[in-house]
Amino acid sequence: MPLPYHLRDPNYLGFDIEKNKQRYQLERDKRIRKDTEDQFVEVVTERSDVSHFLTDDPIGEPRAPRGAIEDDIDTLVIGGGWAGLIIAARLRDQGVDNFRILEAGHDFGGAWYWNRYPGCQCDVQSYFYMPLLEETGYIPKLRFSYAPEIFEHAQRIGRHFRLYEKAIFGTWVTEMRWNDDGQHWVVSTNRGDTFRARSVALATGPASRPRLPGIPGIATFKGRSFHTSRWDYGYTGGDPDGNLTGLANKRVGIIGTGATGVQVIPKVAESAKETFVFQRTPSTVAGRNNACTDPEWAAILGPNWQRDMIANFDAVREMKADDPKLLEADTSLRFLTIMHRLMGEVDKATMTTQELAELREIADHIIMEEIRNHVDAVVKDPQTAEKLKPWYGYTCKRPTFNDEYLEAFNRPNVTLVDVSATQGVERITENGVVANGVEYPLDVIIYASGFEITSDFHKRIGIPIYGRDGGSIYDHWHEGMRTLLGLMTHGFPNLFFIGGLFTFTLSINYCSALDPQAQVVAGLIKRLLDNGDSIHPTIEAEDDWIRQQIEAGAQDFAVPLGSKGDDCTPGYYNHEGRSLDQRRDYRREGYGKGSIAYLSLLTDWAKANDLKGVEVLRSR
Ligand code: NDP
Repeated sequence: MPLPYHLRDPNYLGFDIEKNKQRYQLERDKRIRKDTEDQFVEVVTERSDVSHFLTDDPIGEPRAPRGAIEDDIDTLVIGGGWAGLIIAARLRDQGVDNFRILEAGHDFGGAWYWNRYPGCQCDVQSYFYMPLLEETGYIPKLRFSYAPEIFEHAQRIGRHFRLYEKAIFGTWVTEMRWNDDGQHWVVSTNRGDTFRARSVALATGPASRPRLPGIPGIATFKGRSFHTSRWDYGYTGGDPDGNLTGLANKRVGIIGTGATGVQVIPKVAESAKETFVFQRTPSTVAGRNNACTDPEWAAILGPNWQRDMIANFDAVREMKADDPKLLEADTSLRFLTIMHRLMGEVDKATMTTQELAELREIADHIIMEEIRNHVDAVVKDPQTAEKLKPWYGYTCKRPTFNDEYLEAFNRPNVTLVDVSATQGVERITENGVVANGVEYPLDVIIYASGFEITSDFHKRIGIPIYGRDGGSIYDHWHEGMRTLLGLMTHGFPNLFFIGGLFTFTLSINYCSALDPQAQVVAGLIKRLLDNGDSIHPTIEAEDDWIRQQIEAGAQDFAVPLGSKGDDCTPGYYNHEGRSLDQRRDYRREGYGKGSIAYLSLLTDWAKANDLKGVEVLRSR
């Protein structure tokens, strides 16, 4: 049965899908750069004139001098964000106490330690997103929490599981090397430390390394400049709520209008003398619909409430369950509301996969039209409104949600500079930014330019890692990630991946799969300690998992980043617009059937308790 004709009819929809598609193509072609991912500069800790963008820590305690540490331990956890905290908590549950946590920041929190820029907020509901709420007995104050509350929760987990006594802060790992004779990892740091650890849990997160656009002259600017993940309140004044008094007499330039830019720009705009927003591609900006937590609801939460809510959220997202109250409360699920409405107009029993894909396309155009109409409704100047309208498919870029962003462009002190025609800002001078041939003199440049999320693995992880035969993990992964269940890789014994991009792509709730993964890995680590074994997956098991990943395909609810087609506007989702045949095999970096299917595979594998696909190398 073809879809009912009226569902694509411009008179019924109020817009013409075919005309919109032509516009999408034009806008995309305008932005495609030949240098794709190479347009960005890698921000490394040393050897670079932009290294301070990474190593600056305006928030943390100054790095206290300390002697180098040399230590033999059972387990080393690298990273003190959600993934590091959860695996450490689960190691405690297993009775594994001889471990350390290495963290570059000066406290726990990871992304929430570094990202303290004003307006910073999580777009996933706090009840699902903030981990271990039941264990720590904490109920978030808001449906969508702001960064300070989330950071405090990371500290709460650290205290609850006595993890502070295990943490070594302000320390970057500089190398990891497997020692086959000793059957342990040798891990070195920038503070001269050496750790010998039987197992390593790599928990460095999907977005821990900031990246900068390679704009000519970026290091020549004489004013103040910083990345949003290194916000300098000493310079701007104020706090995460805003009130940035230090900017009152300043001309501020912001480069980047992604999820970060959308949150930070309104806060800068309300304080700065003048704000110049350099926009290459507008984000989709929908309303936030935040709300305080209802104390009566909180009072009656039963056991396992968080686990059940996480499962329900993923089931609703994957259209395996319906929950009208959730759909209404959560604007990030608006696409699904439209889908449910459209599906009410077709015969679901006979609907083919092709028809479902067509319905998704129609829903995508409907939501994008709503988003463009919303711009018109809020932004008073029609020319500015036109520039703020996104012309691409809804899932081509990370959607954003904010009630103040579009309003900011009605302020007289805010100028939107569209740099799409030149594929980005042209140049940075000693005095400011050059865009469209005009120099904008500035006191401060803020880079809301994102993170190494889908770039080459060595840029994302940033640690040289050498395995059994002395080879680099990045060579082992040169055709794409090779793992068993996203957790471990051949030739790198007792190395476990927790979180990171693999987990990030399973669900928009990064924390959905983290705890189940951590429980499995903590169980494995305990077993290795008890038996004195070292393990790694076989090449055959890796190949088999890759086959399963490829067969899983890319569903809309689990977007393996890189999967978005050649018709999408460039961004980190599609490797900055690289043609499909030039992309790394993104299918190996996720599981296209989504969180629920992955967790079921993972749980079955762990329950079987036979280490299927794993080779025991040697018992000590
Ligand atoms: P993004 O990579 O999404 O955005 C980077 C921005 O910089 C884009 O607007 C990009 O433009 C722009 N840019 C890059 N180079 C240039 C250039 N040469 N000239 C002008 N502009 C340029 O980074 P974000 O930090 O915004 O977000 C990264 C991810 O972090 C999010 O997708 C999300 O997963 C997570 N996040 C989550 C938040 C939440 O939950 N609320 C909040 C913030 C971040 P273009 O689009 O044209 O490439």
